[in-house]
Parts: sequence; C-alpha cells; structure tokens
Amino acid sequence: MPKDLLPARAVFLDRDGTLIRDKNYLHRPDEVEFFPGIAPALRQLQDAGFLLCIVTNQSGVGRGYFTLRDVERVHAHIEAELAAEDVVFDAIYVAPEAPDAPSEGRKPSPKFLLEARDEFGVDLARSYMIGDKLIDLETGWNAGCARSLLVRTGYGAETERKEAGHLRDAVVVDDLCAAAAWIAAQE
Ligand SMILES: [Mg+2]
Repeated sequence: MPKDLLPARAVFLDRDGTLIRDKNYLHRPDEVEFFPGIAPALRQLQDAGFLLCIVTNQSGVGRGYFTLRDVERVHAHIEAELAAEDVVFDAIYVAPEAPDAPSEGRKPSPKFLLEARDEFGVDLARSYMIGDKLIDLETGWNAGCARSLLVRTGYGAETERKEAGHLRDAVVVDDLCAAAAWIAAQE
C-alpha cells in the first residue's frame, strides 16, 4: 500500500523532563528550557511520517498554582520555538486536574491517545510513547502502543532505578535524541 494510504502513526511525547527541563510547576514561557538536540530529533520522527503529540499532566492548574491560560502560553512558546526549526506538533493534550480529582485524561489514562486515534486515524499499535515517568510508560501500554520508551532525563534515571521491576518491555535510552534514533532504527 502506498505510504500515504497507510494509517497515521504517532509519537506521543511527555513534556516536562522529556522535551524540556522539569522545573516544578513551570508556568511561564521564560522558564522553558529545551533539552539539547530535540529539534533535529523531532524532525527526524516527523520526516519518518510520525505525527507528534504532546501529552502532559498539569496538576498545577487543578491545585490552583496557575491557570490553563498560563499552560497555553507556555505551549504557544514551545510551538513557536520549534516551528522555527520546522517541527510542528499535531496536538497538545493537557490534563489539568489535581491528582486526587476525577480526570479522564490524566496519565496513565490512554484517553488522549485514543482521541488521536479517532481524530487522525492513528494506528496505535505502530505508534510510540516517550516519557520520564512510569505513568508515561503505562499510558503507552494502556493505549496499546508498539513500545513505550523511558528517557533518563527529568525523573527518568530515578524511574529506571526505583521502578526497575515495573519497566516491562520499555526501551530505556538516555534522552529524546536517543529515543528518536531508536524508533528510526526500527523502520
Ligand atoms: Mg515528565
């Protein structure tokens, strides 16, 4: 089948600790610090035909520390910075609820990945989830992704150590660049 008739594929990306440095309850554009080399890494995935979707829990909204408008401003900044390097995100999904509040989308819920499946025709079984916490890996597993990848940036190294018994078949790599290279090598 020609490539453009195949179902879409996606790479789902955690935000804090994966794309940008995890700063507790970051909520201002000037706090955004990208990890080195992520633009070419994301472009590599995009050029390989993957949709790029950010999936982020932002409990600071539910806790009243900042507003959804703050989150949107941060995301507009992230999108603009990366658009300048020809990286375009297809969707940014935010779960704003506090951890103890009911939430359909909060990771490890697969809800947003299922939404992407329905909206873009994403074949989840040929898609990937990348993050620095166990909940990110679980999100990918819960959605039926091909693999979940754990990056050692952010809380990743700690996750690798503390959750060693729960990593199942997660692919553990140093950072997003290594994750993109690993995915590209599966093609
Ligand atoms: Mg994270």
